[in-house]
Amino acid sequence: MARALFAPCILSVSILGALFATGCARSPSSLAPHFTGSIGMPHRGVLTKAAELPREGEGYRLLVRNERHYATPRFVGVVERAAAKVARERPGAMLTVGDLSARHGGKISSHASHRTGRDGDLLLYMTTLEGAPITTTSFVHVGNDGLAFDEDRQRFLRFDVEREWILVKALVEDAEARVQWLFVSRPVRAMLIDWARARGEPGETILRAMDVMLEPGPPAQSHDDHIHVRIACDLDELAAGCEHTGPTRPWVMTPEPSLDDGPTTLDLVLSLVQPLSRDATAAR
Ligand SMILES: [Zn+2]
Repeated sequence: MARALFAPCILSVSILGALFATGCARSPSSLAPHFTGSIGMPHRGVLTKAAELPREGEGYRLLVRNERHYATPRFVGVVERAAAKVARERPGAMLTVGDLSARHGGKISSHASHRTGRDGDLLLYMTTLEGAPITTTSFVHVGNDGLAFDEDRQRFLRFDVEREWILVKALVEDAEARVQWLFVSRPVRAMLIDWARARGEPGETILRAMDVMLEPGPPAQSHDDHIHVRIACDLDELAAGCEHTGPTRPWVMTPEPSLDDGPTTLDLVLSLVQPLSRDATAAR
């Protein structure tokens, strides 16, 4: 059954190169008029029936007010729930949200992905050097020592690993989110995992966080100034044109191959054309 979802893709290509050239499921068409929502892949796709992240909500604010805060309703809910969780556990905490997607998806400047309503940039929680929480108002690059220089205010800031971990935990424990990736720099990842271990956080949560947090390779930025969240398609979205990329997570529902479908040729093809590194380089 699941394989049938991809059958038009398989029939439309004879060689892998053609698959790269033509792709599949990019937009609703006369051949696939039912495609809706997050259609295609994060770096090559579109978005219909988008929801807009409200300009203000519990525990978050937008970095800038622009037309780049659209996503699937599910992704909007993911951001809202995670920000609210941090604000409830640490009153006053304010997550600064960067770009999501455009109303109809597709390419937006400065990003390779963000095209299908399943990606979003969340700036890092920061404190002053004295430890007073602040609301992040610009991208600041966090170094190996957890410090960052705020060009706007001409001051050093400290990465707030405590609040950031609450956010990461909320994301990876959110069953509806099905987090596929949290693209972030290696030092930030290491600080978060060290913090979680030191606090004795649940092993399953730490393992999930370790699994999804990844520093993307070039040409994407190292992501030392924000976390780029990408969620996987759910089953309804897969049926409606969403295309799965990257590894399959145990906590991410993906279609099971039918026993009648024979060898998993499709899995092999997908693994060849959507390798981990390719997914990661489309992180921006
Ligand atoms: Zn991004």
